[in-house]
Amino acid sequence: MTPFTAIEDVLDGCCEGKQIGVRGWIYRKRKGKDIVFLVTRDATGTIQCTVRKDTTSWADAEKVTIESSVTLSGTVKRDERAPGGFEVSVDQLKIVGLAETFPITKDQSEEFRRNVRHLWIRSRRMNAIMKVRGETLRLVHDFFRKEGFAEVSPPMFISSACEGGATLFGLKYFDKDLYLTQSAQLHLEALIQSLEKVYCVAPSFRAEKSRTIRHLAEYWHVEAEEAFSTMDDLMSLEENLVGYVCQNITKQCGKEFKALGAKAKTLAKVKPPFSRITYDEAVERLRKKGSRIKWGEDFGFDEERTLAKEFGPVFVHTYPKKIKAFYCKTYRKKPDLVMSVDLIVPIIGELSTGGAREDDKIELLKRLEEFGLRQEDYEWYIDLRRYGTVPHTGFGLGVERLLAWMLNLENIMDTIPFPRTVRRFYP
Ligand code: ATP
Ligand code: MN
Repeated sequence: MTPFTAIEDVLDGCCEGKQIGVRGWIYRKRKGKDIVFLVTRDATGTIQCTVRKDTTSWADAEKVTIESSVTLSGTVKRDERAPGGFEVSVDQLKIVGLAETFPITKDQSEEFRRNVRHLWIRSRRMNAIMKVRGETLRLVHDFFRKEGFAEVSPPMFISSACEGGATLFGLKYFDKDLYLTQSAQLHLEALIQSLEKVYCVAPSFRAEKSRTIRHLAEYWHVEAEEAFSTMDDLMSLEENLVGYVCQNITKQCGKEFKALGAKAKTLAKVKPPFSRITYDEAVERLRKKGSRIKWGEDFGFDEERTLAKEFGPVFVHTYPKKIKAFYCKTYRKKPDLVMSVDLIVPIIGELSTGGAREDDKIELLKRLEEFGLRQEDYEWYIDLRRYGTVPHTGFGLGVERLLAWMLNLENIMDTIPFPRTVRRFYP
């Protein structure tokens, strides 16, 4: 059997004048009198393949349909008229799986494409997005390894909430009522007392009932936790991670950025340090710009975008206790404020939340009570404060939000192959 060559390599000029094999799917088809043009795609790209009437493959070329799978062999020719500059002059075409009439055609609605997502992921657009997604995850792992963080695997079934009851998915677990995890944070906090610096990339589940362009019911969450660390350490870690991904992704995925019309140059300029402002300063800036936000209120999407427009990626830290979670550590001298920090970026707004975790047992018990949470549900978490507690910080960052920002996509649904929202769980 002829070995198969990746289309990308053919387009890079590896095989001019040579006989090669290609395998893939028919992307476009156009028929002339004595010639059929078959644009064929594989994982790496698309190339024009021509079949002439005087070859034995003519009948199959006439018969083959869009999205049929094929193998073919032929000679690579340089041809300026062909998209990509090369074409394959085919002498043997074999249909592997003849496709029925493919339901996706040009000019169909976004809604329709999402209904046939299992087929739409074959598009060049989704192919490019998924490659950027894969490389982004690789860079995240590279970064944490480089920084000496241990990768850990937290549980998905949990018995007590991390981020508040409103967005918990409940489920039957044998004869018990459990939940799907909203965040690995609490378990990562346990793991730092063994490994000191830990991270994970795992799904989080949130029953987000309102439909927005930046919320999914299932998303992938990059989370890290570090023992003996300060708020400054935390912000440096986050900006170094984001800077590392932004700079390297534009190098590694230049083709994909181009295909998606995303601005690689702007992204390559994202470099630490990012601006750092307090919640108080942010409120003041926003009010100066005409916002009606009052001290003590949380920022909405509009406010976040206003801030990001002014500062670029920006850390907003030191929040009123009331709008943050029970585990946030209070400033001992200003107990109404907590050591919490949001990273806010253009396009998508909040990219991550992090902070110092309450590490004192008595304070934590007070916080649980304020939040109306039952101590018995959190005994194991309180244990972490009983046995060798340490000051520590950590954060959680949404992979899909990171991608939507980097690729300038207007909906986070396009950053994941099979998005899950309140209305969408098929295919
Ligand atoms: P928001 O206020 O924007 O709903 P959040 O403050 O509830 O987000 P966190 O609990 O701080 O979210 O979660 C950490 C990160 O996970 C967020 O900064 C965001 O990047 C991401 N994230 C949170 N919820 C979702 C979701 N439903 N879909 C996708 N990403 C999410
Ligand atoms: Mn948050």
